Amino acid sequence: AQDRQPFVIANWKINMMPDQVAPYLDTVLPALTGEKEVEVGIAAQDLYLSQMLQAAKGTPLAIVGENSHWEDDGAFTGETSPKALAALGVEYVLIGHFERRKFFNETDETVNLKTLAALRNGLKPIVDLDEDLSVYGHLVPEKVILKQLQAALDGVTAAAMAQVTIAYEPTWAIGSGSAASADQAQEAAALIRQSLANLYNRDLANTIRILYGGSVTPKNAPAFLCQQDIDGILVGKAALDPRQFLTLVDQAK
Ligand code: PEP
Repeated sequence: AQDRQPFVIANWKINMMPDQVAPYLDTVLPALTGEKEVEVGIAAQDLYLSQMLQAAKGTPLAIVGENSHWEDDGAFTGETSPKALAALGVEYVLIGHFERRKFFNETDETVNLKTLAALRNGLKPIVDLDEDLSVYGHLVPEKVILKQLQAALDGVTAAAMAQVTIAYEPTWAIGSGSAASADQAQEAAALIRQSLANLYNRDLANTIRILYGGSVTPKNAPAFLCQQDIDGILVGKAALDPRQFLTLVDQAK
């Protein structure tokens, strides 16, 4: 949509075994050489990031962390340092993914702290909004999305927003096999863009990429990708097969 470069991201979660990483990249990387029409990223657990950075060197593939802490370093056993991720060469990091919020008690407040920490360290945050109605009780979905957006971006300057991507991934659509309709997703994306215009300004809002995620497949992806305010897709299950992932990348061109 508009002049925004489409962005297609595979989210491996913790699904890939060590011996599957190289074959996956061997399939995907040769097909990406010279990629300009679409930006392509893979989010993987920390274990694989060094190997992936090495393999992706000189290719357009963006390497994405799945989470990073709000402190740069220190006594936080088991956490991932945003400073170390950036030093390693990782470009993007998912912040506030639905599964982090649901299973690891991430809140709007920690999502905000993590977003600020990522930016402070030169990582580009992909901020996830999951539209979880249970957190806000009485609010309608549109209000929940806006609350999450506003909270996540508290203290993020207009200049820093150039590094931010927003992902709209409704809880009920992730991993459920039941995606949002393209119309629903477009409506949410338009609402997010309007809210970005209110928080910052219209010109800036028009430059921010907004992705849809939640049970995307090659079958439903084209309908999302042609929406005015949807600038790409974040894909879990359907991207575990590298050939299927390449199909999704092609569909975004
Ligand atoms: C995700 O994890 O971000 C996701 C969208 O998963 P799935 O495509 O499997 O619903």
